[in-house]
Amino acid sequence: MTRPVYRFAPSPNGRLHLGHALSALINFDAARACDGRFLLRIEDIDTTRCTPELEEAIYANLAWLGLSWETPVRRQSAHFADYRKALETLEEQGLVYRGYLTRREIRDAVDRAEARDGRPWPRDPDGAPLYPGDRAVLTPQEIAAREAGDAPHALRLDMTKAVARLSAPLTWQEMPAPQAGAENGAATRVADPALWGDVVLARKDTPTSYHLSVVVDDALQGVTHVVRGRDLFAATAVHRLLQVLLGLPDPLYHHHRLILDETGRKLSKSKGDTALSALRAAGESPAGIRRRIGLDA
Ligand code: GLU
Repeated sequence: MTRPVYRFAPSPNGRLHLGHALSALINFDAARACDGRFLLRIEDIDTTRCTPELEEAIYANLAWLGLSWETPVRRQSAHFADYRKALETLEEQGLVYRGYLTRREIRDAVDRAEARDGRPWPRDPDGAPLYPGDRAVLTPQEIAAREAGDAPHALRLDMTKAVARLSAPLTWQEMPAPQAGAENGAATRVADPALWGDVVLARKDTPTSYHLSVVVDDALQGVTHVVRGRDLFAATAVHRLLQVLLGLPDPLYHHHRLILDETGRKLSKSKGDTALSALRAAGESPAGIRRRIGLDA
């Protein structure tokens, strides 16, 4: 049997907080318990928001927490060619199109439609409006001008076509616990990627997206157990679809509890008080962090 492979995949666009500590430690502990492998992956495709300082802070804080990981660490910004290749595979299947609407144009079109129809525009599980489509907003002349000028655009998955390619219902296996072996009690989850509409796969200036690169990397790195927060549960439907379209293996999944603040909201990177670096500077110990996030009594 091959060794289970776990990973923690933070983005260096902010400071790690207690929620990240929980995710990292759950993966690390689970890998260690089964003599599995633990990988750290730096998801830095957004080269404007990710910085070397924040990346260094990730390494320092995870090491302080007691984690160790295999090297070299895969940094997504060094592998754009891999994501480009996957995108080409989808393009060859006729599943990718250029969407020229800017964020602003999408927002305005949705506002107009909501005012006109008196009902909310459909939104994806993260609350973002589904893509209205260029032809619903721009004239044919405007579209032609943007095409001719190679205007900024997103490369989007044609969700309707993509879902029509499926020959079997799309599902994944959700383990009740992160541990290897928990797959015996796994539940089959039905994936409904259509809820996300025509997701962005790449942009003119960023040659990939979160969904595309995470799926490519989990496969390239042989990840067997994807263990991450419940906030990414719904995104798994898109990931399963891309895995099928790209002919990639399907890992087991476990979506763990989130650490919430006093108001019941998910911790965010912009709030400094639960940042690991701040807690550490205030004298907290790694054992204290484990207790705070409910890993140890
Ligand atoms: N990079 C993502 C994040 O920081 C996590 C990706 C994943 O675990 O699939 O939220």
